[in-house]
Order: sequence, then C-alpha cells, then structure tokens
Amino acid sequence: LPLIAVCGRPNVGKSTLFNRLTGSRRSIVGDEPGITRDRIYGEIEWQGQDARIVDTGGVVPDDEALIPAEIFRQAQVALEEADAIVMVVDGRTELASPDMELARLLLRGGKPVFLAVNKMDTDAMQVQAENFRRLGFKNVLPISAEHGTGIGDLLDEVFAMLPEPREIET
Ligand code: GDP
Repeated sequence: LPLIAVCGRPNVGKSTLFNRLTGSRRSIVGDEPGITRDRIYGEIEWQGQDARIVDTGGVVPDDEALIPAEIFRQAQVALEEADAIVMVVDGRTELASPDMELARLLLRGGKPVFLAVNKMDTDAMQVQAENFRRLGFKNVLPISAEHGTGIGDLLDEVFAMLPEPREIET
C-alpha cells in the first residue's frame, strides 16, 4: 500500500490528526535500539482507496533536547519511505525557524508534500493559515484535527497524488 507520512514539530496536532484519520486501525511498532521515539503506523481508507499512514512523532521523548534532531531524523526517514508527506503546523503560532527548516528539507525531497495548517477551528481563523504560505508549499490546507474540518479536502489532495494501487494477483 502507498504510505503517507505525517511530520511536524511537537504539539502541532500530528497525533490528533493521525487518530482522526485511522480510528482504531493502528499499531505502535516496536522501537529500534537507541531510538527514543517510536513511529506509529495505521491504515486509512478514502473514497475506496487504501493507504498506510505513519505518525512520525509517535512518542515524545522525555529529554526535550532530543526533539529538534529527532524531528529532522524522522523527516529524513519519511522522505525515504513515504509516497506523500503531510507537514503539520500550529496555525495559532507565529511562523518559526524550525518550521522553515523542516519545510525546506521536505520541499527539497522531491516527494508530493502538503502543508496542513492545524487548529484553524473556526472560519474566522482560517485567514491565519495564509501566513504559512510563505513556507513555499503549493498545497496549503487549513484544518482542525480536533473538529474535523478541512480533513476531506486534505485527503482529496493527498490521495490524488498517491501511486495507483497495484492489482492484486490471485
Ligand atoms: P503532536 O505532538 O504533534 O502529536 O500533537 P497532539 O496531537 O498531541 O496535540 C497537541 C495539543 O494540541 C493537544 O492538546 C491537542 O488537543 C491540541 N490540538 C490538536 N489539534 C487541534 C485542533 O485542531 N484545534 C485545537 N484547538 N487544538 C488541537
């Protein structure tokens, strides 16, 4: 199945989005030695198309100092293994340099990338999402992972860019 990766800084709402998208169809994979943050895989179906999805921020390490390096390491893994990448930002915050660096890394990777500007809970807030256009993504989607708004539009765009599923041979 094609794989969608969810990337972003801690607390932007990655796991809220992931849980909304996967419901109960998810599994925490065992961590590799020396890796403090697990990746969580789940399955998602949209308009009859299936995909796997990975939350790259599975478990936040206790050691805050680990966080920036870990986000970038997870983004590198996403660029290697995913067919499409959704970067999540917190639309209520100012655009900050870690977001810009992460965006640069993901945009350079040559994979389909989408920016989900999260926590846009009301229509009035959605204008704030425009600030994040400066990150340079072609696809900028205001969403509220908590309320479920904007999720359908996001999935329409992401699934349109996934490779066609191969026919299952019988
Ligand atoms: P992660 O660290 O990126 O996985 O972030 P979480 O999914 O754990 O969310 C961090 C915090 O943001 C939690 O308190 C969530 O309830 C909150 N949150 C997530 N999505 C939304 C949203 O759409 N709107 C609002 N207002 N809060 C949200």
